[in-house]
This record gives sequence, structure tokens and C-alpha cells, in this order.
Amino acid sequence: MRLVLLGGPGSGKGTQADRLSARFGVPKISTGDALRAAVAAGTALGERARAVMDAGGLVADELVIGIIRERLADSDAQTGYVLDGFPRNANQALALDEMLSVADTPGLDHVLYLRVSDDDILRRLLARAAVEGRSDDREDVIRTRVRRFNADVKPLLDYYRREGKLRPLDGAGKPDAVFQHILQTLI
Ligand code: AMP
Repeated sequence: MRLVLLGGPGSGKGTQADRLSARFGVPKISTGDALRAAVAAGTALGERARAVMDAGGLVADELVIGIIRERLADSDAQTGYVLDGFPRNANQALALDEMLSVADTPGLDHVLYLRVSDDDILRRLLARAAVEGRSDDREDVIRTRVRRFNADVKPLLDYYRREGKLRPLDGAGKPDAVFQHILQTLI
């Protein structure tokens, strides 16, 4: 199963990606997790990404494309994967398609899009900020991330709609209900 999970900040895509990964026995590949790990480890990649992430911007395409290229070559990703947070714009989507065709591996099966309203996102992320203390979960940064996501996701949705891979879903419910809905969509 080769999946992309699209969704704004706070859409629950990380949670659903974990569940899909467990259900289908394929790795979850999250550029956000990889970047946070690089920041925490103080690597050169982390140094380049830190300020952009803290301001709610997008890390340079070349960096995240590099992360994905390396990760997709790992042996555990050969039978499938759930991509969480990548691609984030049309340029990254093109790079992914190119990577898959050059490597002569099967293309994506489905692109799931978890839709959640901006108000719900704000509420969820402020609640998460109180628990997790992520440095980009401040209200001003959340608003920047949501604006950024909404602007970037449109061309991405158009791209996957044209390819016939887009599966939009209501992401507003409880995690169990959203997961059931996702599974029905994949049948
Ligand atoms: P996430 O965990 O997916 O919400 O990502 C957290 C932050 O990491 C984002 O606000 C971006 O700064 C950065 N990031 C994650 N994935 C990407 C990507 N595909 N392209 C650019 N920046 C990314």
C-alpha cells in the first residue's frame, strides 16, 4: 500500500498515518518528524530547518525531497509506505512522481486528504500546545502555518485530482471514526 496523507496542521494526519502504518505493516514516513529529529540532534539539516519551522514556513524543497529520496530507498519502504506531511506543494509532488518512475517502483495507490475547518485546527493545536509544547504551536505561528497550508494545498489537490488519486475525507470526527472512514475509502 503506497499512500500519501494530506492534511493541514492539526488535521490528525500524524495519528491516522500511525494507524495506517500499523494496519498495513508499512512504515510511516513523516518529513515533520524527520526535521524535528534533525533539529533535536543539531545536525546541519536541523540547523538549516530550525528557524523556518519555528516561524511556520516551509523548509526548502531540496531538503525535504532529499529526506524522502533517502528514506524511500530503505528496504522497509519497498513494499509500501504512508507519507505524512510530504508532498506539501506541487513541486514536491512532481519530484515524488519523478523519483518513483526513475526507481521503476509502483506509483501511489491513493492520496487521502483530511479536511478540517480552520477554526477546528486552531482549537486542536492550541490544546496540543498545552500538552506537547511544540515550538511551532504558538497561536501566531499556527495561523501562519494554516494560511501557508491552505495556499499550497490547492495546486496539490488539483494535481492528484487530475491523476485520479485524490480521496477527500472529513477529518472533523473522532480518530476512530475517521480511521474507519479511511479504511472504507481504501477498499
Ligand atoms: P508537520 O509535522 O507535518 O506539521 O511539519 C512541521 C513543520 O516541518 C512544517 O511547518 C514545516 O516547517 C516543516 N515541514 C514538514 N514537512 C515539510 C515539507 N514537505 N516541505 C516543507 N516543510 C516541511
